[in-house]
Amino acid sequence: MRQSASPEEIRGVVAAIEARGFKAHPIPGAQRTAIGITGNRGAVDAPVFESLPGVLEVIPVTHAYKLVSREVKAENSVVRIGAVAVGGPGLVIAAGPCAVESHDQMLTVARRVKQAGAHILRGGAFKPRTSPYSFQGLGEEGLKILAAAREETGLPVVTEALDPEGVDLIERYADCIQIGARNMQNFSLLKRAGRAKKPVLLKRGLAATLEEFLMSAEYILSEGNYEVVLCERGVRTFSDFSRNTLDLAVVPAVKSVSHLPILVDPSHGTGRRDKVSPLSRAAVAVGADGLIVEVHHDPNSALSDGPQSITPEMFEGLVRDLRQIAPVIGRRL
Ligand code: PEP
Ligand code: MN
Repeated sequence: MRQSASPEEIRGVVAAIEARGFKAHPIPGAQRTAIGITGNRGAVDAPVFESLPGVLEVIPVTHAYKLVSREVKAENSVVRIGAVAVGGPGLVIAAGPCAVESHDQMLTVARRVKQAGAHILRGGAFKPRTSPYSFQGLGEEGLKILAAAREETGLPVVTEALDPEGVDLIERYADCIQIGARNMQNFSLLKRAGRAKKPVLLKRGLAATLEEFLMSAEYILSEGNYEVVLCERGVRTFSDFSRNTLDLAVVPAVKSVSHLPILVDPSHGTGRRDKVSPLSRAAVAVGADGLIVEVHHDPNSALSDGPQSITPEMFEGLVRDLRQIAPVIGRRL
């Protein structure tokens, strides 16, 4: 739409799209509103839409993914998690334990990461574990503990949903729904997240291509939830010195084709405590919008992902380093 387009003109175009049996997705941006069209089988009749009041141009989208593409929306999206803006000039750091283990553990870590400068709290209440005998998370009790940690620290909470019922609960207790790597192509979960009233943190699958990753995000947007943050968390390769290979090249690759913000998870990306800070620095340097980092006050006793959890002291040092890197690439921390 033109920058000067009025709300009535936008409504008029939406009505014209729907009258043809298509779905309209008005996506407001800083400069102008873009209206994505989905549900069309072939090309739409561009001159019909171009003649409607307020329309600037009709752009055919060349990629398989539509609503996440920069062709639909040229400028970066800023997604709000609680009061925290992800994708703007400020770098965003989410931190906390892999899993919520107890009230004391969660509150101890929450206070430390808040003090060190984290903006968002992480912690899993439903854990996707390789073994059914490993700690599976505290479930709803864990969500209550996260809500208490938010209450005390003021930090918004991101936590993983393993299934649509988990989304129902997380909508009630938390601020952002995490979809884990193993569920990146769980399409019924993606559709449920697309109908959620909360933003979604979508992690890249263990062996997902860039297109598969963006198509999963497209599922969420296509259901009407445009508040999606992507997350690179390492992919499976032959490399055997780390748990996964953190694919930092995907950050500029995403930025060139999509308006969605992207965080990097150096914890799952490396699996090793001593590699988390160096890869975090690199992630920020390469243009990530922020990080999600596992922190535990006693990592050797952690019930999940202890080997890759950094201590609160290491986290403080990391934030200090990032404060020096951020201005070099025109970001704030
Ligand atoms: C996690 O964040 O603790 C997690 C399970 O991540 P991923 O889905 O990336 O493995
Ligand atoms: Mn973990």
